[in-house]
Amino acid sequence: MKKASFLLLVGILSINTFGQKTIDQKVSELLSQMTLNEKVGQLVQYSGFEYATGPQNSNSATVLEEIKQGRVGSMLNVAGGEETRNFQKLALQSRLKIPLLFGQDVIHGYRTTFPVNLGQAASWDLGLIEQSERIAATEASAYGIHWTFAPMVDIARDPRWGRVMESAGEDTYLGTQIGLARIKGFQGKGLGNLDAIMACAKHFAAYGAAVGGRDYNSVDMSLRQLNETYLPPFKAASAAGVATFMNSFNDINGIPATANKYILRELLKGSWNYQGFVVSDWGSIGEMIPHGYAKDMKEAAEKAILAGSDMDMESRAYMAELPKLVQEGKVDVGVIDDAVKRILVKKFEMGLFDNPYRYSNEKRQKEQTNNPENRKFGRMFGSKSIVLLKNQNNILPLSRSTKTVALIGPFGKETIANHGFWSIAFKDDNQRIVSQFEGIKNQLDKSSVLLYAKGSNVDDQDTSMFAEAIETAKKADVVIMTLGEGHAMSGEAKSRSNLHFSGVQEDLLKEIAKTGKPIVLLINAGRPLIFNWAADHIPGIMYTWWLGTEAGNSIADVLFGIVNPGGKLPMTFPRTEGQIPIYYNHYNTGRPAKNNTDRNYVSAYIDLDNDPKFPFGYGLSYTQFKYADMNLSSTNLTGNQKLNINVNVSNVGNYDGEEVVQLYIRDLFGKVIRPIKELKGFQKVFIKKGESKEVQFILTTEDLKFYDDELNFDWESGEFDIMVGTDSKDVQIKRVNWIK
Ligand code: BGC
Repeated sequence: MKKASFLLLVGILSINTFGQKTIDQKVSELLSQMTLNEKVGQLVQYSGFEYATGPQNSNSATVLEEIKQGRVGSMLNVAGGEETRNFQKLALQSRLKIPLLFGQDVIHGYRTTFPVNLGQAASWDLGLIEQSERIAATEASAYGIHWTFAPMVDIARDPRWGRVMESAGEDTYLGTQIGLARIKGFQGKGLGNLDAIMACAKHFAAYGAAVGGRDYNSVDMSLRQLNETYLPPFKAASAAGVATFMNSFNDINGIPATANKYILRELLKGSWNYQGFVVSDWGSIGEMIPHGYAKDMKEAAEKAILAGSDMDMESRAYMAELPKLVQEGKVDVGVIDDAVKRILVKKFEMGLFDNPYRYSNEKRQKEQTNNPENRKFGRMFGSKSIVLLKNQNNILPLSRSTKTVALIGPFGKETIANHGFWSIAFKDDNQRIVSQFEGIKNQLDKSSVLLYAKGSNVDDQDTSMFAEAIETAKKADVVIMTLGEGHAMSGEAKSRSNLHFSGVQEDLLKEIAKTGKPIVLLINAGRPLIFNWAADHIPGIMYTWWLGTEAGNSIADVLFGIVNPGGKLPMTFPRTEGQIPIYYNHYNTGRPAKNNTDRNYVSAYIDLDNDPKFPFGYGLSYTQFKYADMNLSSTNLTGNQKLNINVNVSNVGNYDGEEVVQLYIRDLFGKVIRPIKELKGFQKVFIKKGESKEVQFILTTEDLKFYDDELNFDWESGEFDIMVGTDSKDVQIKRVNWIK
């Protein structure tokens, strides 16, 4: 061994063995030993897709060789304990033995999958959401995964955009709370614990505001709107210590987010003082070339690193270009050092220098993943994510002793589809995932009969299965129709211009309705769909999203009243695509629409009501809740006084149930126009039948603050409407004066 490298080894050993030094000191020492190529290596992330069966089986040796040379800092899409260990072994052959970080899209569960994220948001249950990420982190870490590319905290107001399924919906307040719950769930008691993985706030920023809901499209908006509506979940994530951020694919006002100095340097790493690192989105550095922002890879790499994007996911721009850019003096080595430091700190925090293999563990995989407890939780969480949209004449819940039930529709016997988009496939998925047929069968009395007919495919014009479905319906006492959009029709690059049930499903529904049988409709989707005919003609409708591994059981639990549904819509449901974008917290115009009786003046269409089909926050229960008049502690407040809002909610129906009590405010006049309603709080309360609960909210002047046109964040004296209710439309209002 040469003397220099011997000394170096001793140096590293002393850092690793005598853990007295702070992580910052360890990082600085390590950094001082790194060559420029090794430094840039830490900023490189490759995908392991082509090595799915392990590096030893790959024909392409380049990446493997680069790992051995210390020219790769992280891999994504390397799943499994054995595979991650095989890659890690290569990294440990490198000169400085810096371990790899393994990242993966763990979006709504891992081995046990949970409802797609928009469905989870419909539970309005922060505790359950956090718990689901706890389980996801425990499962993923057992498979050697250190880092999830989640939560996606993009505010999504356009259901044409396919990624709404991954979001918490349209509201900034709700989205922020849910984002924080997810980060807490993933990162658990802190990085370094075996069941904690690094979270990633994505996509920074405004990805959900793509023009026309077309994925990757441009975003052109005022900085005021950006700061007020789209950035708060990110700012909160940064303050909560989320380990990483991810860029978004879109440009913001002409500058790609990946090289956007305003959001990355000025806000994130500037005024927000964020200490974690930023990973690009997949290829987003290279995409700045077709975008028209960089003439070649070299310029793309330069712009991205200078703006503050630390790690290059699969553009292969940093390794090829950064060393040259440093040598030419175009990028200061200090910029590289800062990026490397941020990444190394995380590797130390995760304990990878102590033991690079510490996460993946066959025993944990067996015991802690897809086990009965996780599945039990998934079943319950699934049922709490369902939204009951209509229950005419209390057709629901169904009786378990119904003699003959027919399940009709293309999703009835689906298994893998229940995962929804963004889930990791495992070989035994087909056997593990509970279909709707199976779930319903599990709940029906032994003497009952469950019939099934597919009726149609998800997305073609074939009506040849209608006849059999009609005959099946005729034999039944109750028909459960299961329709919607294909599970892969929402997700990345899954924008849709037509939000109706795909294929001939609505025709099938109309045919079955002609039999005169009572029908309950399950709607499977990753986004708000448009189904006016069904909403107007079918007595029972449940929105069931994609509910994950236990989907069939979750649905049956609600169908048969074992669980009383309490979900509420996290997005406004439009009547037609032409209403989009439509969201509850819009501004008034100065010109009231004709015939508009309430105070919410939006510009109108001549051929359509302004009202959505279902408002934000809407959802029914098998029981009924009655709100007493709300009480305010004062209607004239000064300075930093607090406002107590009390409301008594009674369960006056026949079932115990949960209600999401929602608090909205409106600032009547402002330096800049304020929305007609803004969610400022919510509480999910369980109330037994015949009982009531006092629900209290406290508002402070913090809740009144907004960004003015010069980006000052403050509140103004004036009048405010305080609104409490069961959804964003059905509220009671009281007015207060609040003076500085
Ligand atoms: C998506 C990200 C995801 C990444 C890695 C990209 O296409 O936009 O959300 O984390 O791929 O799979």
